Amino acid sequence: MRFAEVVGHEHAKDVLLRAATRDRVPHAFLFAGPEGVGKRRMALAFLSYLVCQDRGDGDSCGQCRSCRMVDAGTFADLAVLAPEKGVIKIDNVREATPRLQFEPLVGPWKCLLIDDAHAMTLEAANAALKTLEEPPSRTLFVLVTANPDVLPRTVVSRCVSLHFGSLPTTEVAALVARERGISVAEATDAAALSRGRPGRALRLLDSPLLAERRAFIATFLELADKGPDERLKFSDDVASSKEDAADTAILLESLLQDVLLVAAGRPDAELCNRDMAGPIRTFAEQVGVEGAIAAATAWLDGDALRRYHPDARAAMDRVLLGFR
Ligand SMILES: [Zn+2]
Repeated sequence: MRFAEVVGHEHAKDVLLRAATRDRVPHAFLFAGPEGVGKRRMALAFLSYLVCQDRGDGDSCGQCRSCRMVDAGTFADLAVLAPEKGVIKIDNVREATPRLQFEPLVGPWKCLLIDDAHAMTLEAANAALKTLEEPPSRTLFVLVTANPDVLPRTVVSRCVSLHFGSLPTTEVAALVARERGISVAEATDAAALSRGRPGRALRLLDSPLLAERRAFIATFLELADKGPDERLKFSDDVASSKEDAADTAILLESLLQDVLLVAAGRPDAELCNRDMAGPIRTFAEQVGVEGAIAAATAWLDGDALRRYHPDARAAMDRVLLGFR
């Protein structure tokens, strides 16, 4: 992974490059920002830069053995911890950390990447903290998370934090088009729905939900006229469908945002689902500003709760009962 393949996040890139060029790399970074914006890519681009055998001015070569191994996920001095069934347990941390004490096999750096670091249990975080307090030399820790507030402060304070924000839709569309070999026009729907997150846009392209987007939105908007029973039935249907709840959540979030924008008097051009602007306006008029805010607030509350308990259906129920 080269820095050139990471779109945006110029500030983070700058900080990392300077640290590497001056050989003053902090031993732990916390990459915080929404899921799918490119945090993990940046971590791999940074590691590639550190271990590249032929690095140029400001980027790794992408061709040497080390670069190719990082890309293939076979770089021996890189350990990746990620949640299994939503959790990173203390045993996972204990298994990953001893090898950091040894000399690097390929070198000159070893790296422990903790993906979705907020999924660490408190015991796991404490075990990680021990290693962070006495880091083996030439070891880089990168903690990647969308929810840094869930991590213990003791862990966060050991890391240099870099914030990753959302990207402009045009940049997301360009990246997705390039990676998938499709036209920018074909990438636009997914890019608009991704709300500035290329990872989400790529995921949406693979989901059957993108094709069903208009039908999903139309059915949802019709619920403004319906009673609680029918609304909850919609929630049941969505929860029992084979589509991933996370994909449905993306659609619902984009729609609620659009309803709020319309209720606030914003023009159609700002909507994620521009092609559905008419029905969205009708819905916003039916539920009113208060109803739109109530539904969006219910979603945000549910979204905050999901960090601790993943239950998309409960969040959706609250949204559906939130508007009159
Ligand atoms: Zn290289």
